[in-house]
Amino acid sequence: MLSEKYDEVFFSVGIHPYDIESYDEKVLESFINHEKCVAVGECGLDYFRLPEDENEKQENISLQKEVFISQINLAKKYKKPLIIHIRDASDDSKKILLEHNSKEVGGVLHCYNADEQLLSLCDEGFYFGIGGVLTFKNAKKLVNVLPKIPKDKLLIETDGPYLTPHPYRGSRNEPKYTNEVSVKMAELLDMSKDEVIKLTGQNAHSLFTL
Ligand SMILES: [Zn+2]
Repeated sequence: MLSEKYDEVFFSVGIHPYDIESYDEKVLESFINHEKCVAVGECGLDYFRLPEDENEKQENISLQKEVFISQINLAKKYKKPLIIHIRDASDDSKKILLEHNSKEVGGVLHCYNADEQLLSLCDEGFYFGIGGVLTFKNAKKLVNVLPKIPKDKLLIETDGPYLTPHPYRGSRNEPKYTNEVSVKMAELLDMSKDEVIKLTGQNAHSLFTL
């Protein structure tokens, strides 16, 4: 395992909403327990790709919720923060995070979808993961909401191999391209790039208690 070979490599484990059929709580638990595991996720809700048949759709939604809640409970049991994936499911996701007291561990809304109703989750110990989308020409929503995120809750992420920042869009995303995100974030928040890098680095350290 890479995290056992390199001191500076850590990992998170979780079952993405697209893979809920393969969810096995016991298997996941054995990984969460590892000393280099710093978070539980990606987990969450994704209503973007639901089955068309109404019955199958409802079954899929309830299984997604069940698997999500189970992972929140594991995160709380092992006191590790959550990495949350939310797509077209802000209402239900927020409701579940509040109802299941995810505040105990907090986490990050990875690839934050710019939905303003999720901003209040910063009071529940949640950070906001910002990636390549910020540099896209059609990213108006995210550009507008960015200054409303408390500075101590901002994170930069890759989401590789997807969402490669402008002007590299179309090629495989890699951590080196987070540079483009920090440049854009600095411009929008009236900070220097170095300040953005320092700030988001410190935030990542406090979230994952590295
Ligand atoms: Zn995701």
